[in-house]
Amino acid sequence: MTTGLVDDDAFLLHRAPYDHPEHPGRLSAIRERLEREGLASRFRRVAAREATREELLAVHTEEHVDRVAATAGLPYVQLDPDTYTSSDSARAARLAAGGLVDLTREVLSGALANGFALLRPPGHHAEADRAMGFCLFNNVAIAVQAARRSGVSRVLVVDWDLHHGNGTQHAFEEDPDVLYFSTHQYPFYPGTGAVDEVGRGAGRGRTVNVAWPAGMGDAEYLAAFDRVLLPIARAFDPQLVLVSCGFDAAAGDLLGGMRLSGEGYAAMTERVLSLAGGRVVLALEGGYNLDAIGAAAAACTRVLLGERAPSPAITGRVHPAAERAIEATLSLHRPFWPGM
Ligand SMILES: [Zn+2]
Repeated sequence: MTTGLVDDDAFLLHRAPYDHPEHPGRLSAIRERLEREGLASRFRRVAAREATREELLAVHTEEHVDRVAATAGLPYVQLDPDTYTSSDSARAARLAAGGLVDLTREVLSGALANGFALLRPPGHHAEADRAMGFCLFNNVAIAVQAARRSGVSRVLVVDWDLHHGNGTQHAFEEDPDVLYFSTHQYPFYPGTGAVDEVGRGAGRGRTVNVAWPAGMGDAEYLAAFDRVLLPIARAFDPQLVLVSCGFDAAAGDLLGGMRLSGEGYAAMTERVLSLAGGRVVLALEGGYNLDAIGAAAAACTRVLLGERAPSPAITGRVHPAAERAIEATLSLHRPFWPGM
């Protein structure tokens, strides 16, 4: 069994005409690290292809799809205070979304064991009707909808990016068949992701937010995974797991204040691989410290390839603020998940 990789030089063509933390050097840093550790050649490559209009419209409005398309060929458009396009961004965004759809399909068919998509632009802040927070199209949400159209009934999205994935939560918050779990710095950009956002209507209980302050590291993230994510996910019994794989919760990130190590990311990967028969696809979101994102990507890759995750060096107790955040999430979700 093999691990699939989506990576395309077109993703490097999305670039701002000014200093921006979400820049092509992020992908280059990850590529170089995977090469240096001898990991790049161990993937089977899956070609990125442009998402169809129909695939995009499963998540986004006609107006948003057209607005992004209209930036093609223009040297620079600012779509929101944080979000830019360059002349090739519209194509890069379609390739990112379509590449993730195809990688996910190959995992579902059994042709691949699991997958890693090194995508730019990222996706989890993109709302149905607008670009936001460096994101043009919501790659993970688009892949979820494509997977469901090919027959999957229950999908888990694990969003371990530093930030809350507002776009993904909103796409599925009334949907009982998509479980969205996020750990994120809070209060912080984008402002959503409060613990009492638990989903709406038929989707109540299917949005799980662990919202906590800066300073959380391996011990705290693994506690959230072991005590919140895994029990709920096992009860939900997903057939597929898509990970919004942000590396901006790593120690030393330029935007965030978390302290995850590469070993911590590996241990989280090992935990999600215990779900859905291991049908797991990681899709890159944020992460802005080039050394840290390379190390974290390599650590996750080793676990996807079947190596055992090294144990993180956890010393001391879980931070009291994390205990409070975890308990707050659990107490709100126990009514939805009997037996927890
Ligand atoms: Zn982020």
